[in-house]
Amino acid sequence: MSLIYTGMPLDRCTNQRKNKDWLNSQFNSDNTLFALIRDGDNFFQRDNPLLPVYLRPDQLPGISVNSCVFLGRDESVAIFALDCNKLNFAESQAIEQLGVWRQLRQLGSALPAADAAIQALAKGLVYWHRTHLYCGKCGCLSQLIEAGHARRCTNSDCRNMSFPRTDPAVIMLVERMFDDGIARCLLGRQQNWPPGVYSTLAGFVDPGESLEEAVIREVDEESGIKVQDVTYVRSQPWPFPASIMLGFTAVAHTQEIDVSNDDLETAQWFSREQLQHFASKESSDSPQPGQYKSSSSDSISHYLIQAWKNREIGRY
Ligand SMILES: [Zn+2]
Repeated sequence: MSLIYTGMPLDRCTNQRKNKDWLNSQFNSDNTLFALIRDGDNFFQRDNPLLPVYLRPDQLPGISVNSCVFLGRDESVAIFALDCNKLNFAESQAIEQLGVWRQLRQLGSALPAADAAIQALAKGLVYWHRTHLYCGKCGCLSQLIEAGHARRCTNSDCRNMSFPRTDPAVIMLVERMFDDGIARCLLGRQQNWPPGVYSTLAGFVDPGESLEEAVIREVDEESGIKVQDVTYVRSQPWPFPASIMLGFTAVAHTQEIDVSNDDLETAQWFSREQLQHFASKESSDSPQPGQYKSSSSDSISHYLIQAWKNREIGRY
């Protein structure tokens, strides 16, 4: 099972992005396509909301290579991302007729995998540019360089470079073999989640902390459970807005849950038998008391829970 937002089908051409002649030739090709982002939303076809709109150069006459981010290319087509908040009113109005704006996460796992990966990259890079307009060192305006994969301060005494950031977050399936011989996993929920939804625990990695240490600390802070045997499983880009989720399993050597020290509303141990009866988060039915829903089907949390239920990961 591959995770959504992974599996980029385009060659990112990392070694060529600094070459301005090469970049201009990509940008000026008649075949080049543009993925659009506006206010964090992606652009989809009006009559088929699972297919993104990719515009041709003749549909965007006013843009320049200096306002676009190169995403990658396949054998025949280069694709750039364009932040539509930069367009003037007339250009924006013309584009409105060509599709509809949607949140990528609302479509998530229903999207074609290749489009989901391209659109996630577009969303992540456009967000980075929008939130890093100024130099973090001297405060002067910075400008997009290297095909949109870096920014440089315009202050000639500074010239500080910055690069797209991805915040590492650990997400972990904690398991324990109970005295009754039944293995259970630890899931929690936050107060603002829809009723009945439970997910794996997760949290950001601190500076100066290994991933394994982050897993041990986060589980302890959120649930009071002590874990060991932290094992990496797989990762998922998560540009909502700027993370990568690093998935682990861990074995609990304590059992008593205490959520009083952090922001979880509650946490609970679930057996595989209980997980069998979880409804999908996307189902519109309100859960009955005592009935649960799993995390979103596009998330690595959903994958970790399913893989543990199917005995594909974990010790027990
Ligand atoms: Zn600066």
